[in-house]
Amino acid sequence: MRKLLERYRPKYIFLGALGVAAVVTWSAVFHFDGGRLTVAFLDVGQGDAIFIETPAGNQVLIDGGPNKKVLSELSRVMPFYDRSIDAVLLTHPHQDHIGGLVEILKRYNVDFVFDSGDGASLAEFGEFKKLVSEKNIKEVKVRRGYRILLGGGAYFDVLLPEVFNDSENQHQNMVVVRLTYGSTCFLMTGDAEREHEFKILGDDIDCQVLKVGHHGSKTSSSEAFLKAVSPEIAVIQAGAKNRYGHPYQAVLDRLTASAVQIFRTDISGAVIIESNGKNVFVK
Ligand SMILES: [Zn+2]
Ligand SMILES: [Zn+2]
Repeated sequence: MRKLLERYRPKYIFLGALGVAAVVTWSAVFHFDGGRLTVAFLDVGQGDAIFIETPAGNQVLIDGGPNKKVLSELSRVMPFYDRSIDAVLLTHPHQDHIGGLVEILKRYNVDFVFDSGDGASLAEFGEFKKLVSEKNIKEVKVRRGYRILLGGGAYFDVLLPEVFNDSENQHQNMVVVRLTYGSTCFLMTGDAEREHEFKILGDDIDCQVLKVGHHGSKTSSSEAFLKAVSPEIAVIQAGAKNRYGHPYQAVLDRLTASAVQIFRTDISGAVIIESNGKNVFVK
């Protein structure tokens, strides 16, 4: 832990009830309580949407897919009466990641939005920003070194972006996080491409679960990166018969060669993985 703290010099952010930092002891924050962490890679068609529920019951949604489909998918993992999500993390403002988040902000009470601060000319982005402002949602622009404590011992370490890049290419400021619970971790890559992968090769990214970058596109999942992560499970979020040809056959071949179990939302629907802090299980 000490090494990690020194390396990242983390800036801490607490979620929800943990917001009152003064009353929470560090051991309570970091101690994983033996409960289950649930990570559901939802089937939103061509796009990403990942629902996380910590053992403390805090809920986080990483991206929302392209449209309303996220709402019906969420009803599989959340009870119908639950109308709040503690935090939403937007990896980058592309349609296939932000479209569904607009629907989420309209219908759910959300406390926090985490993003890179990048903008987009996309209509959905304007709507997203308007809802964040109207609903007084706390927006935090995250950078490498931020540790977001999710409750129950689970936390995000923000690996990218390191600095804000003024670029037309919205992949430049991709938010990449590692979700840690006990000795298990999930690497959440958004649409990270090879250049992002190389930036974090020296980090502790040896995780059991890899959310394969950019829907399995040929621009991602380099051999060196797959070797560094050496996941047991790789999850690809892509739409059935999508027009981009995701996932790319060479990426599937590289994963297969690494003896990784591959799960695809375009084939299996939602992929739900649980962690007890020691091992991960596909439900
Ligand atoms: Zn993208
Ligand atoms: Zn995408």
